[in-house]
Amino acid sequence: MKNIHDMIYDVRLEWEYARFKNLFSRTSGLLPHEHEMSPDSRRSLDDLNRKRQGLQKSISETFAPFKDVCRDCGGVCCYGHGSFYRAIDYWLQRRNGNAPLPSHAGEKEVRITPQRLYSILCRFLVTSGGSYDYIKENMKDKEKSPCGFLTVSGCRLDVSNRPVLCIVWVCPSLRKATNLRSRMRYIELVTQLYIICQRTADVIHTEHKAIRGNGRGNGRGSGK
Ligand code: SF4
Ligand code: SF4
Repeated sequence: MKNIHDMIYDVRLEWEYARFKNLFSRTSGLLPHEHEMSPDSRRSLDDLNRKRQGLQKSISETFAPFKDVCRDCGGVCCYGHGSFYRAIDYWLQRRNGNAPLPSHAGEKEVRITPQRLYSILCRFLVTSGGSYDYIKENMKDKEKSPCGFLTVSGCRLDVSNRPVLCIVWVCPSLRKATNLRSRMRYIELVTQLYIICQRTADVIHTEHKAIRGNGRGNGRGSGK
C-alpha cells in the first residue's frame, strides 16, 4: 500500500500531465498560418523556447541520480505512442531541424473536470505501486508504434529538444525510485515549464486573433 506522500505525489503528477495536455490543444489552430506570424511574436516564441530548453535540462538533471531505472527499463514509455510531439512542440522548436511536423494538430481538448480528477484519484488508490502493470501494458504495444526517436541506446534527441510530454511524464517505476528532495524540485521546475508553455499558447492565441481579425488567414487551413 502506498504511503500518503506517494499518493499525493501521484495525484500531483497526473494533474500536471493532464493540464499540460489540456494546454497543448490550444496551440494547433494557427499552424497553417505560421508563415504569417509577426516578427514580435516570433521573437517572443524564440525567447520562450530558450527558457524551455533550460528548464528541460534542469528537470533531467534533477532525475539524473535515478537514471539507472530508465536505463534498465530501456524506454518502455516510448512505445505505443508513435511520438509525443504536439503542436506546442512545433511552436517551441519550429527553427530546430529535429522537429517533425506535429501529428496531433487536431487533438481534442482534455478538460480537467471534477469527474476527471475523481477518476485520477480512484486510479491511484486502486493501483498501489502499479509500475509492473504499467510496463506490462505498454509492452503490449511495443511492436505497434515505437517512437521514431527511440534507439537501442535511448532517445536520440537531446533532452532540451524532446517533446514537452516526454519531460513531464514520470512513470510509476521512476516515481518510486525518486526521493522527496528530487520530487519537490521536479514539481517546482515543471510548474515553471507549464508557465512557459502557457505563455507560448497565449502568444499564439493573440496572433491567431490578429490574423483572423484582419482577414490575413482567409481561404487557408482553419481560417474561417
Ligand atoms: S520513465 Fe519509466 S517507463 Fe520510461 S524509461 Fe524511465 S523507467 Fe522506463
Ligand atoms: S522523443 Fe525520445 S523520450 Fe520522447 S517518446 Fe520518443 S524516444 Fe521517447
